Amino acid sequence: MIETFQYKGKEDGLSLLVLAAVHGNETAGTKALSRLIEKLDKQQICLKKGKLTLVPVCNPAAYQRHIRETEENLNRVMKPHENPQTYEQKLANEICPLIATHRVTLDLHSTHCPDDVPFAFCDYPDNYNSSLIAVLPVDYVLEGWPQMYAAQNAISDFSTEGYAHTCGNTATTLECGYHEAETAAEIAYQAVLNALAAFGMIEAPMPPLMDKKHILMKYFVIKEKSGRLLKNYKHLDKIRAGEKLAVYDDGTILTAPQNGFILLPNPDAAIGAEWYYFGIQA
Ligand SMILES: [Zn+2]
Repeated sequence: MIETFQYKGKEDGLSLLVLAAVHGNETAGTKALSRLIEKLDKQQICLKKGKLTLVPVCNPAAYQRHIRETEENLNRVMKPHENPQTYEQKLANEICPLIATHRVTLDLHSTHCPDDVPFAFCDYPDNYNSSLIAVLPVDYVLEGWPQMYAAQNAISDFSTEGYAHTCGNTATTLECGYHEAETAAEIAYQAVLNALAAFGMIEAPMPPLMDKKHILMKYFVIKEKSGRLLKNYKHLDKIRAGEKLAVYDDGTILTAPQNGFILLPNPDAAIGAEWYYFGIQA
């Protein structure tokens, strides 16, 4: 069901997998990979070392309808399923063997709100994702996702990063900014080129190492009933201790426990889905 594009260098080297549109409406990575595939096919960019596999559309049915998912969130079911029950579980069965056979995966996403700041997730720090994140064209890195999920004993971490870690490999998620922003596709493209250069897979100067601000994710809020966020929050907005963040229609108010940042606020979250996250400076 998914289409892959594979390139091999003359010399041995790293195996890098780049995924896009795991969420069907997040097309910045798809645009970036289409541009890269054209350049690789015309040999305007040549893979010197290693193996590069590109998957421009990981969720084709959702991509065609420009929606996040058809039946469930693909990035919460990323593990092999013996008896796949949903379309996304069938996709996971195609994508997992790729993640298992590539040392590094870069998973390109985008976010809900205009002007969203791009950032990377680093769930399982190691040398590969440290090298990769250092050259990604973003200022922020969010850490602590698996610990946060374990602490809240909620959804298991069946994400691309979680599955790669299970296989002894490395994955990094890059959120390239707002879905529709012109800059998002450019950030995605630059990220992949920088990765290829940093891992010595193409002939290019080492990209500059960019300083990052590290944010530790503390908890997330599932929207339990109907309600609303109290401001037009943007991802990474600074929050003061005690600030009222959201209110349920029955009057229950959710406040910030300490100074920090609101992360990934989703004003349109469905009941039962993640509403927002909260983090502090690491
Ligand atoms: Zn996404």
